Amino acid sequence: MVLDPKHTRQIRIDAVGGPVDLSGRTIGVSMPCPGCRYDLRGVPATSHCPECGLDITQVLASAVDPTVHRLPPLASPRAVGDGIVLTSLALASGVVLPVVGVLWAGAATVSGQMGVSTPVMESLTTLAAVLVATTGLAGCWSLKPRGAGPLQQVARRAVVLCATGCLLMVGGLVSVLIEGSWFMIGGLLAAGGGLMTSLAGLRAVLLEAGRRCRAFRTATFQRQRITPLLLATALASLALPASRVADMAGQQTIVLTLGAIGLIAASMLAVGLIYLVNNAIWIRRALRQPPPRLTELLD
Ligand SMILES: [Zn+2]
Repeated sequence: MVLDPKHTRQIRIDAVGGPVDLSGRTIGVSMPCPGCRYDLRGVPATSHCPECGLDITQVLASAVDPTVHRLPPLASPRAVGDGIVLTSLALASGVVLPVVGVLWAGAATVSGQMGVSTPVMESLTTLAAVLVATTGLAGCWSLKPRGAGPLQQVARRAVVLCATGCLLMVGGLVSVLIEGSWFMIGGLLAAGGGLMTSLAGLRAVLLEAGRRCRAFRTATFQRQRITPLLLATALASLALPASRVADMAGQQTIVLTLGAIGLIAASMLAVGLIYLVNNAIWIRRALRQPPPRLTELLD
């Protein structure tokens, strides 16, 4: 936004074709004031909301996103949005549900109710495997390349990596349910490897589609980066199996240390994946309902 040198109410804001002078312009569409929901249609663009006094120029600047309209359009933005949400939901459920199961089992053991812990843990892990398989593959179907566009190349790689990763995660989660330490160790390694493969595949699509979402582009604290997720996955999927190996060797101090490290890393990973789902929902919303152009809002 640029104030003119005379510091009058003549203000220009950034738009697709360059800065637009708002003097003499009025709001031409029905548009609720973000402060008080008053309909701003007909209100001068350089004035204030008649009800709550909010600066209309600020309202306009936050309603439009010229960056989005300068980018090349995606071939099928709705399918990409659905694919990002479904894939991140699959990955999140593959971690969040088993972690909740383990924490539940820990709490049940502490309170002396060990009998209920195993069935709950098994049910949540089974549900996780089913959700990873169904939503993960549905997400890959939505992400498959459709026509030309900036995602054509990365989408193909994303689908291959996400589908392979989700299948590995399902195999890992099922293996964890089977009796025996080696099934548990192999299952944890497979689930971790699968998650890392899927995240690597999703990253390029997420970043390219995310350029079209101002909330994602500008968020700092609430934006989940993929690298910390990969690091937490690597830590959890090495520490937890190593803890099992130490258990087989009778090294109880190492079991507890590695188990605690693995569980903390897995819990942080679960929180990070919930943030990732939230980011995916932002991007899906921006792809389905792109922000208006400034010219569409003014008379
Ligand atoms: Zn208002």
